[in-house]
Amino acid sequence: MTVDEYRQAIARYRRLHIWPIAVFGLGTSGLLYAVTMYPAEMTKLGTALFGAPNADWIRTASLFVLAIAMLATSAAVHCVAKRDRRLSCSHCNEFLVREAAILVVIATGNCTGCGRQVITSTNEDDAEVEDF
Ligand SMILES: [Zn+2]
Repeated sequence: MTVDEYRQAIARYRRLHIWPIAVFGLGTSGLLYAVTMYPAEMTKLGTALFGAPNADWIRTASLFVLAIAMLATSAAVHCVAKRDRRLSCSHCNEFLVREAAILVVIATGNCTGCGRQVITSTNEDDAEVEDF
């Protein structure tokens, strides 16, 4: 794997994180909209789900469902990213996506877990070959 391939994999990994952010943004917006624009319907739904004395629990339950949706989306992003072999060490399977790990891998070409080489050729090496 070259440094450029690793950088592309990291860029893709970072782009994947738009999904939990989108779930959070759309979820909180939708929830605020529903609570402010349809308070009677929210209370009616709360009464149906939790009974009349506990109808207000619908708001707490909505936040709980939103939190679960965010966690599920984050877990899905992690699973998708784990399948990209460029993001893991081929020797020890260390997941090389933390900021400190990215700096070490790009600077040294070595894994932060086992210390063995994960970058097989640098772009500078390729440039030198092309120069001759
Ligand atoms: Zn390793």
